[in-house]
Amino acid sequence: MRRLALSFLVCVCIGVTLAGQAPAPGPVTAIRAGRLLDPEGGRILTNQVILVQGPRITDVGPNVTVPAGAQVIDLSRMTVLPGLVDAHNHLALTYKPEPESNIYYFTYVQESTALRAIQAASNGIQMLASGFTIVRDMGNNANYADTALRQAIEQGWIPGPTIINSGIIIGGLGGQFFPTPEMYTDHNIVYPEYLDADTPDEIVKAVRKNVLFGARVIKICVDCKPYGYTADEIRLVIREAAKVRMKVEGHVQTLEGARNAIEAGIWSIAHSTGLNDEMHKMMAQKGIWRAGTDTPDTLAGHPVSPQGYQRTVASLKNAYDNKVPLTFSTDADYYVAGKTRGEVCLEFLKTWKDAGIPNADILRAMTINGYKVSEIEKTRGPIRAGLFADLIAVPGDPLTDIEALKNVQFVMKDGLVFKKDGVMTPAAFFHGGPVNGWRIR
Ligand SMILES: [Zn+2]
Repeated sequence: MRRLALSFLVCVCIGVTLAGQAPAPGPVTAIRAGRLLDPEGGRILTNQVILVQGPRITDVGPNVTVPAGAQVIDLSRMTVLPGLVDAHNHLALTYKPEPESNIYYFTYVQESTALRAIQAASNGIQMLASGFTIVRDMGNNANYADTALRQAIEQGWIPGPTIINSGIIIGGLGGQFFPTPEMYTDHNIVYPEYLDADTPDEIVKAVRKNVLFGARVIKICVDCKPYGYTADEIRLVIREAAKVRMKVEGHVQTLEGARNAIEAGIWSIAHSTGLNDEMHKMMAQKGIWRAGTDTPDTLAGHPVSPQGYQRTVASLKNAYDNKVPLTFSTDADYYVAGKTRGEVCLEFLKTWKDAGIPNADILRAMTINGYKVSEIEKTRGPIRAGLFADLIAVPGDPLTDIEALKNVQFVMKDGLVFKKDGVMTPAAFFHGGPVNGWRIR
């Protein structure tokens, strides 16, 4: 017993010594940026140098000296900008024409958590290739495939965006499903897509279950059913999540649900169908994030009626006019023939353009606001010394033509080059073990 205790002590001491050593300085990479977009100021800086060492930016500016021996990446003909954020997606869900006729009930019953986790890895790579370095992954990911994706990326097994995941969506009986009594009682078809939580005890337990299994944000169905959550019940979710410093996003589809969620002081509201001018004014006043998931009318196989699209555009414009904090959010959890997941998400730019939102503000929603709604802005996002080196580059100038974002030629994530000259070069991201630490949960 004593020997065991001693060896344990030795191990702990070695661990402390190793952890206390300063890491060996890695090689320096110098990026020459012909144009550098500053989304905060809505301006372009010219002839900048960004120094990167290990996973972080160490210096940026016009007069930065490139150290001898530094690897130089020449983006002098490009516009460099910080990585993009999709504030609402579901990477472990892709419903499609074949075999499920785009009916996502069938996706759930035909695809295992394991298969969906592998698909999530692929979707993450597709998102990163289009410049999305952060994705808020808001549920409908089987039995915590979203946590598995986040861990695999954080441990260094695969490339992918930084994942802010919600675990299983918490809702009143049935979640977003409408099962038959047989499918509910005998086959429990609602789980694991939704965690039923109808009473205060169940609500608290459901939040804790998501925390235990690796969520980084809590997602609730506010009004998926007529017996949706009251403002008091939403406050209970918010209080329980706040114990572990997590925020709450609400799926909202009705005016009453929006009112309850806003009154309770929810962090973010997903979807726009429940939001009118009055709700937007209240959201602006309270600083509640809008993840409108503003679907364009151009996605093959996913038709949007002209009236429906007009409503979406008008709602986004009204939110902008009311100065609601806006995030770029897609809910793009389906396959569109001929497009990667990232390309599908960039199609959503059309709605923002049709709403007449200036490019500088679209870019703010896709970057600065995305970092803030993800609560990550102090460590990741802005191109600033000390922060993680996540940046992308495009030819042209997105401030004058937002479509330039559809041609991402260069992607760096955590200081590693993922895409160069338009070609994915992900070799540096694949490791056999947890290079960034197995304790990441
Ligand atoms: Zn969604």
